[in-house]
Amino acid sequence: MGVWIDSELCNGCKRCLKACPYDAVAMRGDKAVILEHCTACGACIEACRQDAVKTDVVAREIPDFSDHRGVWVLAEAQGGELNPVSLELLGEAQELARTLGQKVGVILPGWDIAGLAPTLARFGAAKICLAEDKALATYRVEIYTEIVAELVAEYKPDILLIGATSRGRELAPRLARRLKAGLTADCTMLEIDPDEKILLQTRPAFGGNVMATIASRYSRPQMATVRPGVMQPCECEGSQAEIINHLVKVPETPAVAAAKVLEVVREAKRKVRLNEAKVIVAGGRGTGGEMGFKLIEKLAEGFGGEVAGTRIAVEEGWVPVERQVGQTGQAVRPELYIACGISGAVQHRAGMQDSRYIIAINKDPGAPIFSVADWGIVGDLHQIIPEMLTQMAL
Ligand SMILES: Cc1cc2nc3c(=O)[nH]c(=O)nc-3n(C[C@H](O)[C@H](O)[C@H](O)COP(=O)(O)OP(=O)(O)OC[C@H]3O[C@@H](n4cnc5c(N)ncnc54)[C@H](O)[C@@H]3O)c2cc1C
Repeated sequence: MGVWIDSELCNGCKRCLKACPYDAVAMRGDKAVILEHCTACGACIEACRQDAVKTDVVAREIPDFSDHRGVWVLAEAQGGELNPVSLELLGEAQELARTLGQKVGVILPGWDIAGLAPTLARFGAAKICLAEDKALATYRVEIYTEIVAELVAEYKPDILLIGATSRGRELAPRLARRLKAGLTADCTMLEIDPDEKILLQTRPAFGGNVMATIASRYSRPQMATVRPGVMQPCECEGSQAEIINHLVKVPETPAVAAAKVLEVVREAKRKVRLNEAKVIVAGGRGTGGEMGFKLIEKLAEGFGGEVAGTRIAVEEGWVPVERQVGQTGQAVRPELYIACGISGAVQHRAGMQDSRYIIAINKDPGAPIFSVADWGIVGDLHQIIPEMLTQMAL
């Protein structure tokens, strides 16, 4: 039946009408009635002062999760090196764990990884579970899913943070499915609800026009992915960690047996690590094309920095996709970000507004990029950048 109104008790005050987010309450004469498309969200029940809104929907019970403890990070390593996002997540995990009065744990699957444990401890891990096996030397999602799911089931974290790298984006949904846990992708803010002590996971939604806060009340671990460059690493002095060497048993499932890695061929091109750059010079549609991007490159070279671009610049083929900054690109926070011919759409700002200093060059004085810029130069970038290069050469 869902939700209905006891017309004997209804005094026609219309509070329920105003409270309903779905327009599912109407007036019939001087009495309120619930319409067919009611979702039984309960907003009208809370609003009614006459106790006239009735329901037979039973509130879902929150299971007892007291055996789930700790804020854990799924760390990522390749070729004996940690992905910097793992340390950024540890910084955030320390904050969350402090609020909850819990400890920070790390799961690190891979091969030749034992030497990375001291770094993980220095950046805040109190417990490090190393899952080391030659079969994990080359990342394969089927094997990693099985092994990480097994470890999560064993250590029962309250929260599990994963980098939104290409590996993390592939692994996290599979883990969530396997663990029957909720997962929020691409979070930009994480905090603990002071009353419920649950993780509030905030991320842009509807093309970045709203920020949605999501909570996983009914399952554990509470899983979130966070893009590189969003959180800050935090080193702690003299920290020691408990290290657990987990005995890895490579699963023999049909999915694992279905493929075999014969050879790993690495692309010769230089690895783009925009999130480690101190200076980034970014170009947008206003550069006008490849010629304009030559200026961007020269300016970046002058600063010893990296070149980046907006999604438009990527779509036009002026800059490769791995250099896209923004909501669907990389989040960066360099010391200096120079935005040239970029309007500053919310999706672009989401990836660069935490830069220490921002200079914007745009011929439109009303461009939104100026709202986040420390210095704004209104003018044509084809005149301004050559002038900057001349001044730098002096
Ligand atoms: C779901 C979704 C995700 C998205 N993700 C991203 C993302 O990750 N990154 C991203 O960047 N965008 C993203 N976008 C696209 C975003 O909404 C904008 O369309 C894009 O950022 C605009 O790029 P732009 O600033 O280069 O171009 P425009 O908005 O066209 O701006 C060009 C600017 O250049 C200025 N200009 C023109 N000529 C000159 C000149 N000669 N000198 C100086 N200034 C000049 C103009 O005044 C204008 O302000 C996303 C959109 C959606 C819907």
